[in-house]
Amino acid sequence: MFIGHFAVGFAAKKLAPRASEGALLLAPLFLDTIWPVFLTAGWESVRIDPGNTAFTPLDLHDYPYTHSLLMAVVWSLVLGGIYFAVTRYGRGALVVGAGVFSHWLLDFVTHRPDLPLYPGSATLVGLGLWHSRAGTMLVEGALFAAGVWIYARTTRARDRVGSIAWWAMVAVLVLLYASTAFGPPPPSVKAIVAVGFVAWLFIPWAWWFDRHREVR
Ligand SMILES: [Zn+2]
Repeated sequence: MFIGHFAVGFAAKKLAPRASEGALLLAPLFLDTIWPVFLTAGWESVRIDPGNTAFTPLDLHDYPYTHSLLMAVVWSLVLGGIYFAVTRYGRGALVVGAGVFSHWLLDFVTHRPDLPLYPGSATLVGLGLWHSRAGTMLVEGALFAAGVWIYARTTRARDRVGSIAWWAMVAVLVLLYASTAFGPPPPSVKAIVAVGFVAWLFIPWAWWFDRHREVR
């Protein structure tokens, strides 16, 4: 799943209005945010395999530290804990922790059975929504629309940056989603890693427009 994770980050603002959207967005993206680090270090790997499912050309055969159920719980506790230590905002910490875990749940719905229960586990799970391109886009598109709607209703722009920078991100995400859904597969694993690192920019971007918006 891709923009569905963003939907969770946007909707989270309603549950923890005092938290920065930067933190609220980092949470549901976190497992994919650290994934390029693990790929670069050689601790995890991925193969390009067009047709792996109808939606993704990636064979996600080896990602126990970022995407196993157990590690998703661990990362949720770590990020929620760090957030609480820094901000002392309990509600925000709960939402951040739950946000990290939501990534695994949404991936569980979309991936074919490639998610391990824990590192080294032979049991792989996944409900395989990705076998249907239309189904994937319908579910993920609906989630995304709901997330955007909730964030837009929960906050209001204080100035032009607060409006333009926010809607620009929404537009960029829609374009990126369309290009992953209909475009060619990535040319190399290096390209996947590079895109993964560039995606980190969404976090400061969200922090930035959120500072130019206020809770209604
Ligand atoms: Zn993921």
